[in-house]
Amino acid sequence: MVRSLHHPSIHDYGRTVPSWWAASAGKGPDAPPLKGTVQAEVAVIGAGVTGLNAALALARAGVSAVVVDAAPLGWGASGRNGGFCCLGSSKRSWQQIIRQFGLAEARRFFNLQAAAIDHVRDVIAEHAIACDKGPPGELIFAHHRHARARLEAEAEMMRDVFRVDALMMSRADLREFGLVTGENRPGLMVPHGFPLHPLKYLHGLARAVLAAGVPVHGESPVTAWTREGARHRLVTPGGEVLADRVAVATAGFTREDLSPAFAGRLLPVLSNIIVTKPIDRAARIAQGFTSRTMCADSRRLLHYFRLLPDGRLLFGARGGISAAPGAEPAMKARLEGDLARMFPAFAGVGVDYFWRGLTDITFDRLPHLGTVEDGSVHYLLGFHGNGLAMGSLGGAMMGARLAGLPVDLPAAISRPLPRFPLSALRQTYLRAAYAAYGLGDRLGR
Ligand SMILES: Cc1cc2nc3c(=O)[nH]c(=O)nc-3n(C[C@H](O)[C@H](O)[C@H](O)COP(=O)(O)OP(=O)(O)OC[C@H]3O[C@@H](n4cnc5c(N)ncnc54)[C@H](O)[C@@H]3O)c2cc1C
Repeated sequence: MVRSLHHPSIHDYGRTVPSWWAASAGKGPDAPPLKGTVQAEVAVIGAGVTGLNAALALARAGVSAVVVDAAPLGWGASGRNGGFCCLGSSKRSWQQIIRQFGLAEARRFFNLQAAAIDHVRDVIAEHAIACDKGPPGELIFAHHRHARARLEAEAEMMRDVFRVDALMMSRADLREFGLVTGENRPGLMVPHGFPLHPLKYLHGLARAVLAAGVPVHGESPVTAWTREGARHRLVTPGGEVLADRVAVATAGFTREDLSPAFAGRLLPVLSNIIVTKPIDRAARIAQGFTSRTMCADSRRLLHYFRLLPDGRLLFGARGGISAAPGAEPAMKARLEGDLARMFPAFAGVGVDYFWRGLTDITFDRLPHLGTVEDGSVHYLLGFHGNGLAMGSLGGAMMGARLAGLPVDLPAAISRPLPRFPLSALRQTYLRAAYAAYGLGDRLGR
């Protein structure tokens, strides 16, 4: 079986992630490899925000659990993302969601996304996690003159359907707000969300999980998964877990050989980030970009960017087909070129960090929280590049379900995770989709 759709190096758990987060987070809690046989009611596979929030919910419900991760703590997407705690998790438009599930269900899905942000805020407060929270709100810049109408329709939908104070901001408004890019276009301000330091958040979560009595084992990839009667046996290089139930929280780093139940159901795609050297105040003022508000643009292959507390600019982009190390310089150069075009005043600042990672797309472009086999395997997968908030609340909901507690899920996320038709062709679909998105982005469609 194909173990990964991507170059194997992207799953090299020994390869350190050269991120600004890793350079600035400080030391995380110890998560030693699993040794020997451990028994628990629930085994959680994956120690990202999803798995750790599930573990916290299990501990709270008095259910014994153990978390195993293939890599050192913080290595996955949760420790290397852009730190945008924001709405999202699906790649469907709200119109499509309303058409498929109806207005009431669309509202429930929206409310879940908003609640996910509140959940992260609450977890941070409850466990006193110092993770450099930034100001509330997210600005989506129009990237093309045609994109403005799309954003206006989105603002109207948010106001009329979801009762959200979404606001179109003119170029003059944005100048006043300290959010001017070289593209000089209006944008949509959504009041939800806030930026944070993702690895500090993850370390804080892991400390809370450990304090609640749940062991967390890094460097412990599940290499075999069998059944022993009703129980699950998860084998790692140093040990094994025997568990009644399993939570799968492996997102974009899910390998094809983890379990046949998930093979062919996810399309892992790359997201890429550069972080500049600290930009001095004069250059930030010259650019007109002084706010720490998190921003993205309206491209399908979007850019996301924000100023960090020490004046660095984090600048990310979805895209890139090859995860091979040899393809990294070209992607870094592309990001640097885009940054220079969008922020002419920052062009010569210099880039200190470049890294990338995988996020997960599903065939129906929705996240899925469900069960497989005899109902003893629960999963939450499919974040479409936006899983910091949804993985956190969804993980807690998955933990609650594993503990037998009632959890009310919107229809949009509770249908079974579909398999991609002709799943061996997923990379081909991706190439075709990226070519179409690139063209659409250039034309403003
Ligand atoms: C570069 C980048 C930028 C992003 N920016 C944002 C952002 O700003 N905001 C946002 O909301 N989302 C963002 N995302 C997406 C977000 O990071 C993810 O959706 C979210 O972190 C998923 O969390 P998770 O816990 O489900 O998975 P992960 O954090 O990816 O954790 C999964 C874990 O499973 C482990 N694993 C895999 N296979 C096995 C195995 N066989 N045995 C044991 N362990 C295994 C992996 O080692 C990994 O640590 C970004 C993603 C990337 C890559």
